[in-house]
Amino acid sequence: MKDGWNPWHGCHKISPGCAHCYVYRMDARHEKDSAVVTKNADFDLPLRHRRDGTYRLPAGSVIPTCFTSDFFLEDADPWRPDAWRIIRERQDAHFFIITKRIHRLPECLPPDWGDGYENVTIYCTVENQDRADFRLPLYAAAPIRHKGLILEPLLESIDLTPYLGGNWLTEVSVGGESGNEARPCHYDWVLSIRQQCMDAGVAFAFRQTGARFVKDGKLYRIPRRLQHAQARKANLDYIP
Ligand code: SF4
Repeated sequence: MKDGWNPWHGCHKISPGCAHCYVYRMDARHEKDSAVVTKNADFDLPLRHRRDGTYRLPAGSVIPTCFTSDFFLEDADPWRPDAWRIIRERQDAHFFIITKRIHRLPECLPPDWGDGYENVTIYCTVENQDRADFRLPLYAAAPIRHKGLILEPLLESIDLTPYLGGNWLTEVSVGGESGNEARPCHYDWVLSIRQQCMDAGVAFAFRQTGARFVKDGKLYRIPRRLQHAQARKANLDYIP
């Protein structure tokens, strides 16, 4: 990802959504073991400058962070305090962190976190009802300034209604699974979640169909290059 920051690489599968993890798929092409977690050489990338003295990740950037791992992975516990220090130093940029390990948040926060850093959004991702029921109560209560929920890969219909009230969530986004072994995503599930969001006044976005999409009982194979466009075509996004 062009403007992202990847302080460490590698991860461990922890839930059904990880089954066909893209990090493992990419690494497999180079016979690399994704379960070996390593600190990257450009760990301090957000603090690096160009020759003209400006930051390599410019002021005003939105920086996808830790996208070939999980920011709250246990293996990264020794490195995370330095990562927080870097994030704190770059108040002129906004860091997007996506995690399946929201349960680890309390033990991973820096001492001056308070109710969250203004320049950090932490997204929680869930894929089925079981993980929603485990992660969302923790996420709702977590001290984070900016929150968004990502349902990708969506593996079944999910009842989010117990969690959508209270104005704590800015957006729910939904998507299917990509890759040759992708599990199907059903249009009905997407519509149901959209309706739940509309009823609760929470923004909704349908990001991509995934590689196998079921609509009106028919399974469609969607090539990678069309998965985002097909979702856009469905015109389901909702802003309250
Ligand atoms: S948590 Fe994310 S990066 Fe880690 S194995 Fe699961 S899908 Fe892959």
